[in-house]
Amino acid sequence: MLVSPKSWSIALLSALVLAACGGGGGGTTGPKGQGGPLLVDASNFDNTALGVALAALPMEPLNADEQATLAYMREEEKLAHDVYAQSATLWGGSTKIFGNIAISESTHTEAMRQLLERYSLVDPAANLGPGLYMDTTLQALYTQLAAGAPTLIDALKVGATIEEVDMIDINAALLLVDNTDIRLVYDNLLKGSRNHLRTFVNTLAAQGLTYAPQYMAWADYTAIVSTPMER
Ligand code: ZN
Ligand code: ZN
Repeated sequence: MLVSPKSWSIALLSALVLAACGGGGGGTTGPKGQGGPLLVDASNFDNTALGVALAALPMEPLNADEQATLAYMREEEKLAHDVYAQSATLWGGSTKIFGNIAISESTHTEAMRQLLERYSLVDPAANLGPGLYMDTTLQALYTQLAAGAPTLIDALKVGATIEEVDMIDINAALLLVDNTDIRLVYDNLLKGSRNHLRTFVNTLAAQGLTYAPQYMAWADYTAIVSTPMER
């Protein structure tokens, strides 16, 4: 099993589930979202276009929770990149998926770096090589993931699971963040992750394997994988 997602996301998800049971809330992981022109090739940021878009938006005060999500998502997107880059080294002769998605994740973590820079916040990943993280939860997660994919099939399942955790954490972060610029990036990260999840799940299906979500609610998972790749 993977380690749990960040503690603040667990608490917030619980609150979200309770709200959904009461008839409100819900739907934060659905296929809809703010896409916009910032993503090219379905799931990669055009970081130049992002810079232009961010410059046109107001800078709003950040509270401690908002700052924490920026640092955390910077490293979580880096983790996704690092795992896929490793898988691309191992399995690149069999599939281009890992290499392509690793490139996509490099644009995601760069988008987060741009947000940190915009708000003059410390970049936790500034001097860290592949597989190294300031956040201890992510460091433990990487260690587990790096050891947990001895076959191509395992690596594809790990990929799908990373995308689940990524979306859960982004959705939890969105509950804490009201700044327009940050929400724009998070909405686009979600869109990229939905496409990545579809890619991993479809590739497993092509091999006759049905992926079962490890963390995400079935309804949210089904809403994503039953809909086409987004542009
Ligand atoms: Zn990503
Ligand atoms: Zn992804």
